[in-house]
Amino acid sequence: MNSTCPYCGVGCGVKVTPQPSGAFQVEGDTQHPANQGRLCVKGAALGETLGHQGRLLYPQVNGQRVSWDEALQQVASDLQQIIDNYGAQAVAFYASGQLLTEDYYVANKLMKGFIGVGNIDTNSRLCMASAVVGYKRAFGADAVPCCYDDFDHSDLVILVGSNAAWAHPVAYQRLVAAKKQRPDMQVVVIDPRRTATCDLADLHLPLRPGSDAALFNGLLHWLSQHQAIDSSMLPQLDGVEAALAAAQPWDSRAVAEFCQLEQAQVEAFYQRVVASHNLLTLYCMGINQSGSGSDKCNAIINVHLLSGKIGRAGSGPFSLTGQPNAMGGREVGGLANQLAAHMNFEPDDIDRLQRFWHSDRVARQPGLKAVELFQAIERGEVKAVWIMGTNPAVSLPDGHRVAQALARCDKVIVSDVSQHTDTTAWADILLPAQGWGEKNGTVTNSERRISRQRGFVAAAGEARPDWWILAEVAKRMGFADAFSWQHPADIFREHAALSGFENHGTRAFDISGLAQLTNAQWDALQPLQWPVNAQYPQGCARLFSERTFFHANGKARLLPISPRLPVAQVSAGWPLMMNTGRIRDQWHTMTRTGSVPRLMQHHNQPFVEIHPQDARQHQINEGDLVRVQSATGWLVVRAQLSGGQQRGSVFVPMHWTRQFAAQANVDLLVSAHLCPESGQPESKQTPVRLRRWHSDWQGELFLRDTVTVTDIRALWWARTPYPAATRYTLAADGDPQQWLSRQFDLSELTLQYADGQGMFRRVLGWQSGELVLAFYADGVRPQLDEAFIAAAFSQPVQTAQHRHALLAGYAAQSEAKGRTVCSCFGVGEQQIVAAIASGCVTPEALGKKLQCGTNCGSCIPELKQLITRSEIIQPG
Ligand code: SF4
Repeated sequence: MNSTCPYCGVGCGVKVTPQPSGAFQVEGDTQHPANQGRLCVKGAALGETLGHQGRLLYPQVNGQRVSWDEALQQVASDLQQIIDNYGAQAVAFYASGQLLTEDYYVANKLMKGFIGVGNIDTNSRLCMASAVVGYKRAFGADAVPCCYDDFDHSDLVILVGSNAAWAHPVAYQRLVAAKKQRPDMQVVVIDPRRTATCDLADLHLPLRPGSDAALFNGLLHWLSQHQAIDSSMLPQLDGVEAALAAAQPWDSRAVAEFCQLEQAQVEAFYQRVVASHNLLTLYCMGINQSGSGSDKCNAIINVHLLSGKIGRAGSGPFSLTGQPNAMGGREVGGLANQLAAHMNFEPDDIDRLQRFWHSDRVARQPGLKAVELFQAIERGEVKAVWIMGTNPAVSLPDGHRVAQALARCDKVIVSDVSQHTDTTAWADILLPAQGWGEKNGTVTNSERRISRQRGFVAAAGEARPDWWILAEVAKRMGFADAFSWQHPADIFREHAALSGFENHGTRAFDISGLAQLTNAQWDALQPLQWPVNAQYPQGCARLFSERTFFHANGKARLLPISPRLPVAQVSAGWPLMMNTGRIRDQWHTMTRTGSVPRLMQHHNQPFVEIHPQDARQHQINEGDLVRVQSATGWLVVRAQLSGGQQRGSVFVPMHWTRQFAAQANVDLLVSAHLCPESGQPESKQTPVRLRRWHSDWQGELFLRDTVTVTDIRALWWARTPYPAATRYTLAADGDPQQWLSRQFDLSELTLQYADGQGMFRRVLGWQSGELVLAFYADGVRPQLDEAFIAAAFSQPVQTAQHRHALLAGYAAQSEAKGRTVCSCFGVGEQQIVAAIASGCVTPEALGKKLQCGTNCGSCIPELKQLITRSEIIQPG
């Protein structure tokens, strides 16, 4: 069975094979054009996420299990009652780039077409709303011109605001392969941090956080000064004069000063762009998540338009979408300021939709965008919200206010696959949705490629497809005629037909060529890139090759850009700029990847990455717990020192929630500064201060999976799953032994103790010969062999020597692995360092000895870093 990975916007095809054990093997689909057989470690671990642990299995109303009919009726009547009492603008949907296109289409149709207001927005607002504005302003359509094959044709690839090596690993591996094939291909990485992506860079520009627009404005000016304008493009461009006038002050000296770069670096970059025949710019959250994100996107697109490096192989401005189906959401109008099928809130579009949907209620104006929506909930203006497949209590900025809003909201309805998330905690009504492997539909990746996600396992409990849940509510609200589909293919055909309805080449999104698919053809649909219509029956790899755009006059537009720095700036009180982002092995709020032990080994605790000199200044050492505070909130995370971090900046990952750590949600710290055009929050730049965080003791607690823990009562904790056990990393005050006795009833266990000076405690708890609990505490973080301890929960412990070693926390004879670097083969940092010391000084040699880096390749940048570090420590 072929399907599509549900994580990032690369949209890799997977091949799923049932195993005799009942498990499923997931491999890369060699026939899928997006990944050609490659998978990153997250995709490769998909088979390990199919268990039902933690799943939401039954509909629930006010915490009580109910039948589907009761739940659906309750949702319909609650929504209707609020509409009757307060008007339709008092209800809203908040959807997700995790939804399938068919689900998304139904949600949008119900809210904008029949409830009749624009109040449906999506977590894609946090991901690529600025990219959408950029494309629409430049091309007249939200249309990504490029495709992944362009990697194989470009002379110069710029990655700006993108740590693709971690956030889009298979796209990055394709770049690695392209450079290997054509070593002359130049790669420039523009990022304040030296990330894993810089491993591929011929030039890294560590610019001042948030200053990207000036760099591209300067490039536009440089093109005009160095005869690098494509004059054949000019008749197809509007706005050239104004854009050049806005760029005129940005000579390389001014750019260098603003971006805090060397002038020579800036000019070296500009010279490479001029020298390139084909230029590809890949950009992502570092550009989009900004108070001026839309302008940054247009600053990039301006360069491509004026230089004519667009619409041909190897060239174009290529926004990498974060989520698996952010693009699908854009197609169906999942954003509050769009209508379906790339239509806008123009009178003609509204009229067209009314006739197509046979509804006289189509929304007349845009609805509330994500952050505004939750602010309106907080003010009591929106009284019911239906949240689908997303976790806004964690992912929206101003986290405390989001929690307040959900607490105050009259009716919170949540459809999700997970029983316990930070958002389901606020739900009045919980609706179990089908997850990956169960649901059936389509998604669209970053390169406009529509692929099938197919169901191959039975749904967990009573979970249902999102489209079905929405349609059943719509029927109960009196809209049965318009929501009577029997199969997701019915919805897809309607969506495809709408894309072509009175289109006549005026809207980029047109898949009318798929509107007549039979169910069997839809089921067998092979990946293809839109548009798919009479002109492009097999789809279309690149847009704008004929230099015709979607503004009414067929031209593209350059925008005059005035670069702006982040809204909030560092100051004496808030001296460091905090960046947020993804880590290699985790996805979003960890509801799926957090359950896979091997994916939790690369980084098993939330952390803050700090430049060593900043750390020294703040008297912080590697591994210390650190309180990071902003104007809106604080968190406690582990210090990780890195020379790759720019001085004055820190990085905190976005993934940890209350389900995985006590106080580590980074969005509590991020303010809701929004791009005025896109409404996307400035998640990348938050002024913060740091302080070493003290507790009387720190510890590790391992518990067999059979022990249920509802509430860890420590000052701080972080949870890591292992096969058969869960590990809690702890920090608390008082006596550790007393803490353990208060936390657990130990009376049923046979205990083995070791006490030492100060806070040193070791406790093993046994039941019927099985290890149930292992506890290690000390005044400082205990140094343990965690893998050795965790293994004792899945293997018998038979000898006294083994028991004593467990009490000590490490095996006398064994080689500790250290932090996992290669998640595919479970290879640890200490093993790698030892192999380097023995002479394996290339990634290939390490791969031969330990297998690390020989599968998905995501850890190769880290292997290189470890090799370099060892060369620095032992020169010569
Ligand atoms: Fe999945 Fe993205 Fe990894 Fe591909 S690169 S396997 S889509 S997470």
